[in-house]
Amino acid sequence: MGPEHACRVLLIYPRFVSETFWNFSEACELMGARYPAAPLGLITVAAMLPSQWEVRLVDRNTEDLTDADLAWADMVMTGGMLPQQADTLALIDLCRRHERIVVIGGPDATSSPHIYKQADFRVLGEAEGVIHEFITAWEAGERTGTFSAPKFQVDVTTSPMPRFDLLKFERYLYIGVQYSRGCPFTCEFCDIIELYGRLPRTKATPQILAELDRLFALGYRGHVDFVDDNLIGNKKALKQLLPRLIEWQQKHDYAFELSTEASVNVADDDELLQMMRDANFFALFIGIESPDPETLVAMSKKQNTRRNLIESIHKIYGAGMFVTAGFIVGFDSEKTEVGDTIAHFIELSAIPVAMVGLLYALPNTQLTRRLAKEGRLHANHDIAATTGGDQCTTGLNFDTLRPLRAVLEDYKRVLNMIYQPAAYAGRLQRLASLLDRSGSHRSVPTGDLRGRVGTMELVHRIVTALPEAREPFWRVFTTCARENPNATRIIVGLMAMYLHLGPFSRRVVAEIDRRIDADLTAPPRISVRPPPTFACPPQRPSAV
Ligand code: SF4
Repeated sequence: MGPEHACRVLLIYPRFVSETFWNFSEACELMGARYPAAPLGLITVAAMLPSQWEVRLVDRNTEDLTDADLAWADMVMTGGMLPQQADTLALIDLCRRHERIVVIGGPDATSSPHIYKQADFRVLGEAEGVIHEFITAWEAGERTGTFSAPKFQVDVTTSPMPRFDLLKFERYLYIGVQYSRGCPFTCEFCDIIELYGRLPRTKATPQILAELDRLFALGYRGHVDFVDDNLIGNKKALKQLLPRLIEWQQKHDYAFELSTEASVNVADDDELLQMMRDANFFALFIGIESPDPETLVAMSKKQNTRRNLIESIHKIYGAGMFVTAGFIVGFDSEKTEVGDTIAHFIELSAIPVAMVGLLYALPNTQLTRRLAKEGRLHANHDIAATTGGDQCTTGLNFDTLRPLRAVLEDYKRVLNMIYQPAAYAGRLQRLASLLDRSGSHRSVPTGDLRGRVGTMELVHRIVTALPEAREPFWRVFTTCARENPNATRIIVGLMAMYLHLGPFSRRVVAEIDRRIDADLTAPPRISVRPPPTFACPPQRPSAV
């Protein structure tokens, strides 16, 4: 393919591991979707390619990749996150068998380029900062190479409009947009700040509103997720955007219901909470990690200390948004009663959907560097399992300070306690009494996939699928419908999430039992000594 020709690019979004907290497969099925989230990174890269290049997208989480797809392509572009590593490597292999050129990018390749050495090209870091070099090289006839973007330099105001037209909207529970990259905090285990930096960079207000215009013009209605690492990382900029976003929603009859990820200090700012409510935010993901202040200080998550976390969460409920939260088991400083402490906190805070995982030393983080120095990091710590699940089962890729068995038993204890049907229903009941949706927009947008099934019908289907939850779930539903009808739709949506969370938590517990048994009979593990040199190219935020 010479420079004078157009190029046919097949973008392939690799499969996530099958057993993951985040796939909500049963809830997707209930709503008629195939996967929760669409591949925003790849469609952003698609927008950076020369206009004469032809582009197709295959999302392996929602559709099959055929030999004909590969035969069509001059080049395959792929890559993703750690839970997609196994499928990405399988795709490289497949492309080589089909004699297709394969280009790898994305966060995992950026963090661990050595794992992807079989690819023809590695395009590392934020794509906007490097893709032009790759295109120039390709058009000059080069067919191998590694290109790295300089760290944290990309001006996201120049990021192009993602190619939303490549998505089949009806296949996803929600569509993502990105307003900012980076986070000002310093959590030890986090790779976001290594990939995207600590100075949040935001898009211009007209730019992000144009993305919403585009989604609207393409006919999309419903749940839009701001995939930002921390939406409130640059509060000043966000407070300039929100009034315009509110106007946009009013003008478009609240076409989108919004969710995002934010640090818990969002609760300190009444004005911000009110603006988020007015902009039709209904859900926030917050990293709590641990209720133990000492553990929070040790992991450098200082924004979660010096506050009453439960009051902060309830304040967010008072602003009409429910909270899903992340918790982690396996920190050095945690106490023997950690299982009970976390489960108790989750109960008191009334967080129905709690992502409780095992600590995972992600490639190129402060945590990984410290563990390597201490000689505690396992060999192949950056190689994802080819089968099985995410950090819920494969975490603790290092020597724990407490005996591994004790940590795993505590982890099981949390899952066993919080995902009993009665416990989940109890948290829904308390959430229903705290969630003030009185000033929030009430109905789903017309055309939203979630409106296809009526609320009563949904409850019926949920309790039919989960007979063990029938009684407590009906009780929550009837009480909520009577006492807080504005919150009913959201509470029923969270009931649907239990279709995945209940059985998933039980599978994780079974897997942890197997891991405990295996640990009892395993020979001593080899750890990385001396510390790795981390001679990777500079780590860059990646749009893939
Ligand atoms: S608040 Fe979240 S994104 Fe920011 S450093 Fe901590 S874990 Fe990372």
